[in-house]
Amino acid sequence: MRDKSALGDLAICGGVPAFGEPLHVGRPNIGDRDKFEERIGDILDRRWLTNGGRYVQEFEQRIAGLVGVEHCIAMCNATVALEIAIRALGLKGEVIVPSFTFVATAHALQWQEITPVFCDIEPRTHTLDPEKVERMITPRTTGIIAVHLWGQACDVDALSGIAAQRGLRLLFDSAHAFGCSYRGRMIGGFGDAEVFSFHATKFLNSLEGGAVVTNDGELARRMRLMKNFGFAGYDEVVYIGTNGKMSEVSAAMGLTNLESMSEFMAVNRRNYRRYHEELAWLEGVRVMHYDEKEACNYQYIVLEIDESKTAVSRDQLMQILWAENVLARRYFYPGCHRMEPYRSYFPHAGVLLPETERLVNRVLVLPNGTSISAEDVSAICGVVRLAVENGPEVRQMLDQIKGDSVSVS
Ligand SMILES: *Cc1c(COP(=O)(O)O)cnc(C)c1O
Repeated sequence: MRDKSALGDLAICGGVPAFGEPLHVGRPNIGDRDKFEERIGDILDRRWLTNGGRYVQEFEQRIAGLVGVEHCIAMCNATVALEIAIRALGLKGEVIVPSFTFVATAHALQWQEITPVFCDIEPRTHTLDPEKVERMITPRTTGIIAVHLWGQACDVDALSGIAAQRGLRLLFDSAHAFGCSYRGRMIGGFGDAEVFSFHATKFLNSLEGGAVVTNDGELARRMRLMKNFGFAGYDEVVYIGTNGKMSEVSAAMGLTNLESMSEFMAVNRRNYRRYHEELAWLEGVRVMHYDEKEACNYQYIVLEIDESKTAVSRDQLMQILWAENVLARRYFYPGCHRMEPYRSYFPHAGVLLPETERLVNRVLVLPNGTSISAEDVSAICGVVRLAVENGPEVRQMLDQIKGDSVSVS
């Protein structure tokens, strides 16, 4: 890793890249390897690989305890968990969702022929704007799926009020928000149910995995049946179901990582604070602010680039970082409403999504997690500063060499 002080040091200008190896967004946080291997050995010794084994049960209890909910149903991933929660809640017709989210939020609805109605977000938190949600409600609306994006809590109180008043179901896609709180209460206990993702790239991973958490016992019972083909007994099927089960190896990974969760959080927070310090005074660059009074996993370092102030565009900044082996990512670009099949179904959706449309062209996510050191953060920030402080010059240069530069996808 090397620090850069002059424009000519940038890799895009022919300098040596800041990092010899690529730095990824979402490189997995991995806990104690010996503990994991011990659990794997135990799984193999006992020959119990899936179907409600010891580790899945323990994982569910630990999650429910941590979050403070009555029921946790672990599943193979969060997408299937969303699909099952949507079906168990009886959603149909139209459901209001943000467009500024990972496409699985919308797909989980469309997969079962429920129409996702895309709603705009609040520019500060990047989460659903409750006032706009109210305006999207029609006689066909049955529910709202709100996303605690970046672990930043939605306006839970306002959304709960709307759902109660209008007789709608409220489900939270909490894929980013494990370990985060809202007004001092852990995320997981709000709405009818919440869905966590334990995918490899998330703050806490179980290789692949997800879970639905809820305080509704009847809903929990239905989801348990649905994730196991609808089997109520050895030969008794009472429901249409699917296969949403989490395996024992996944649960072993999840449990192992839970034991290191506070370390993951501490590293993420240290890096987050350093990103803030290093980029604080940079005109035109906003670093997403997390309320440090709340519990937070600090997994995502989210920049918003205001091109009118930085001169260098978000995409050019990304190009510069990629050349340095910093694989920064545009997130949720270009927005669900601009992806198929939604783009064809709702070609004019963007008209009602001005904040989303603005944000998809501004957001850049930088690497964080236990594989990123404080020195890495400083070197990354040095590149960002160099590029932005020399914005007009960099822009002119990149506009010239456009075409034969690194490709970013
Ligand atoms: C990752 C993610 C999902 C999907 O989670 P998987 O476990 O990968 O299926 C859903 N919603 C959001 C917002 C996500 O970031």
